[in-house]
Amino acid sequence: AQISQAEFVKSSVKTEDCPSDGLPEFALVGRSNVGKSSLLNSLVRRKKLALISKKPGKTQCINHFRINDSWFLVDLPGYGYNLKLKFVYTPNRYAVAPKDLRTDWNKFTKDYFLNRSTLVSVFLLIDASIPAKKIDLEYASWLGQNQIFIIPSVLISFLLFVVHGSISSHVSSAVPITEEFTVIPMTLIFTKCDKRKKKKNGGKRPEENVEDFQELIREFFQAAPPWIMTSSVTNQGRDEILLHMAQLRNY
Ligand code: GDP
Repeated sequence: AQISQAEFVKSSVKTEDCPSDGLPEFALVGRSNVGKSSLLNSLVRRKKLALISKKPGKTQCINHFRINDSWFLVDLPGYGYNLKLKFVYTPNRYAVAPKDLRTDWNKFTKDYFLNRSTLVSVFLLIDASIPAKKIDLEYASWLGQNQIFIIPSVLISFLLFVVHGSISSHVSSAVPITEEFTVIPMTLIFTKCDKRKKKKNGGKRPEENVEDFQELIREFFQAAPPWIMTSSVTNQGRDEILLHMAQLRNY
């Protein structure tokens, strides 16, 4: 499941502009500063690959990286206080942001989630070194409401049977059944798990923050999403993520 080859392919502003070669893909999403670029670099074992998507003009884009010539890692814009939202969001005062700006971000990614048929799974990154942030909970809730969660394949087959009158053997990728019902397995990736607890961060260990977060999002999901604890400093969780992705590709 290791990565031997990784290359930047393109930045797209719309779902229609994304690469059309039909390779399966995994999308990384999370609040700005959650450690998304560091994780991407750690996964591909290259220090600066993810810097490409941090270049001016690219932070608001869907950035595709082709891996081992056979699948894509996709870096989606960070939510929270990225370029467009910079003037209203500060790291700890997201609550003051006008709602419609967040809606903008949601509309952009919602279109990608609902219409990108080669999307295998969404990886939602959560910072484990701090207590749950409201914006992460809002986002997890949004994913949950849009039925983006792991569903046993038996259930997917049943749903396909109900909707299409036939059972499809291919259930690994996103299955847009209707606009309102998209089935995309989601995985929670907790970042910065190497960080020690700090008083200014609520005084809890990463393990405790992880537990709290899972407890808080329980109501948003019918089935708890799988989760992996990671650190880009120690590379904790790297092999686990790659194995998980390999399993999802072969599902
Ligand atoms: P992005 O905005 O989500 O792409 O976040 P970055 O990857 O740029 O990381 C934001 C900050 O968090 C940087 O200062 C990183 O050095 C730091 N960081 C990222 N991942 C880790 C991690 O696993 N452990 C620790 N201790 N710091 C991290």
